[in-house]
Amino acid sequence: MRLVEEHQRVVAALITPRAPQAVDVGDALGLVLADDVVAPLSLPGFDNSAMDGYAVVAEDIAAATTDRPVKLVVAEDIPAGRTDSLVLAPGTAHRIMTGAPLPAGATAVVPVEATDGAIDTVSIRASVVAGQHVRRAGEDVTAGTTVLRAGQVLTPAALGLVAALGLARVDVVARLRVLVMSTGTELVAPGTPLRPGQIYESNAVMLAAAVRDAGADVTTSSMTDDDVDTFRAELHRHAADADLIITTGGVSAGAYEVVKDSLAEQVEFVKVAMQPGMPQGAGTVAGTPIITLPGNPVSALVSFEVFLRGPLRAAMGLPHPDRPRLTATLIEDLTSPRGKRQFRRGVLDPTANTVTSYGPPASHHLRWLASANCLLEIGEDVTELAAGSPVRVWDLG
Ligand code: AMP
Ligand code: MG
Repeated sequence: MRLVEEHQRVVAALITPRAPQAVDVGDALGLVLADDVVAPLSLPGFDNSAMDGYAVVAEDIAAATTDRPVKLVVAEDIPAGRTDSLVLAPGTAHRIMTGAPLPAGATAVVPVEATDGAIDTVSIRASVVAGQHVRRAGEDVTAGTTVLRAGQVLTPAALGLVAALGLARVDVVARLRVLVMSTGTELVAPGTPLRPGQIYESNAVMLAAAVRDAGADVTTSSMTDDDVDTFRAELHRHAADADLIITTGGVSAGAYEVVKDSLAEQVEFVKVAMQPGMPQGAGTVAGTPIITLPGNPVSALVSFEVFLRGPLRAAMGLPHPDRPRLTATLIEDLTSPRGKRQFRRGVLDPTANTVTSYGPPASHHLRWLASANCLLEIGEDVTELAAGSPVRVWDLG
């Protein structure tokens, strides 16, 4: 049997980045910058008012107090968005709104709260010093500065900055396009009636969500006929548009193993020393890497966690590609099969740093996985773990 680490290496080697691409800022959330962003302009782009108020020459109102207000003629009204160039004559004021361009000659802004708010002759009750309530051109960003670095994840704030700099598109590490194919004649789409012996398809839904959660794009195809020709045709129809194909089911030791029967030449089918998730496969179909996961739902998702999530995220340049791994104290006795790495579903109490297994080890108990928050990783040589032992935990968040 192949060790978990060896199969991890085989899978990781198949998953490689796509060429960077330019995307609209509106589609770039969560993607990783492929290039540094250099500011093409300064922010603010021009001196402007930080307050709603009056643009003045500070010396003109140096004597203003509540008891002895200074009166100035209001010569202009400057809302935000006014694009003509204005000049403030000494001894006058311009009414000005937040973000509006400061007229040439003005040295400060008096907030409207320190005035009577008049529009013809304003009465000003407080002085200001030169520069007060003025946002200077370039005080946030100077044109030519590198404001974001390649490798940074585009957060809402980073996208706001990109847009503020006037950039409509950004160069990013492309999302990988993943095709998820489920197989099984017994499968029926949720929302349709079941006949005896049929079950609802859940792996494609689950793995597609896991792929998206890992940051990649996904398309799904549910093959409800374990027929080699149909399966091959569907695979080839999609292979060229995918950077990675993930299949589930049809790889174990029975008959009607459609994935195994179809891909004997393209895929290396192996047994990995783990539970759940022993039957695995990796290879290439028509130039596209393919990973064949087992069909039992818990095996499928645990396999995705163990073999695919990290490499997928790494190939998209995402930070912390692997789940956080930690050591916690087990608060129950556990047994584990000799010779296999066991991944039990668990509940981690991060405050106490204790962990307990959750549900039976069998690979069809989806219910427990759905409410677990971690995986317990128990080594091949370990057959018994007593309460109080340290155990390795993958934090599923
Ligand atoms: P297989 O590996 O195809 O023999 O499948 C193993 C078990 O997983 C069987 O009980 C299947 O019915 C079940 N299974 C396989 N694929 C799916 C799927 N896409 N959704 C739900 N159950 C599945
Ligand atoms: Mg099957």
